[in-house]
Amino acid sequence: MTGMARRGGDNSEAGQNGSGKNGSGKMVRKGDLPTKICAQCGRPFTWRKKWERVWDEVRYCSDRCRSEAKKA
Ligand SMILES: [Zn+2]
Repeated sequence: MTGMARRGGDNSEAGQNGSGKNGSGKMVRKGDLPTKICAQCGRPFTWRKKWERVWDEVRYCSDRCRSEAKKA
């Protein structure tokens, strides 16, 4: 009789049996809103509801920046 090399068939170590995390990686932000760079302070700002009709014309992140831009 030749020794029956009995190796455990179920070597479940290779499988993804580790952490129960099923992370899907990056989180997608809800409702990816458009952004612009403020022409006055140079910071990015995000679309706001109040700009929904004038978004194309919006240049500044706030009224403050807008008025400051006019001053200068
Ligand atoms: Zn600004």
